[in-house]
Amino acid sequence: MALREIRVMGDPVLTKVCREVTEVTPKITELIDDMFETMYEANGVGLAAPQVGILKRIVVIDVGEGPIVLINPKIVETSGEQTGDEGCLSLPGKAGVVTRPNYVKVQAFDEDMNRIELEGEELLARAFCHEIDHLDGHMYTEKVEGGLHDVGAVSDEDEE
Ligand SMILES: [Zn+2]
Repeated sequence: MALREIRVMGDPVLTKVCREVTEVTPKITELIDDMFETMYEANGVGLAAPQVGILKRIVVIDVGEGPIVLINPKIVETSGEQTGDEGCLSLPGKAGVVTRPNYVKVQAFDEDMNRIELEGEELLARAFCHEIDHLDGHMYTEKVEGGLHDVGAVSDEDEE
């Protein structure tokens, strides 16, 4: 496994539409392992392949409930609404308020190209939407309400 370089906003690779995966080759298995390592190292909860410069429809997510791999994911159902801060490893140090569905159902393939269907609420639903947007060349900044703000180290002031 190896860390990959996370592309930052302004890199044209982040604006491209990614290609579907037809076969999970050893190279793709290695990419997925590297994406997890890169995401965990950066303390992220999700990473899409274009963020490491690969234009394939692959997403990794871990919101604290275990690793999830999504290949060729599609959102098939949404409901409700949540409004809250969202950030992105491709825009370090920034966050902004984005409204997303509170419930999302996704169909995809797993690492063995088995069909899977997953449901998520709250943070997981947000991660599904955010990462799948990356596969179509979209950043959360297009959906931000009221501009971006800086996020630094966690401070006690946030409690008050
Ligand atoms: Zn992102």
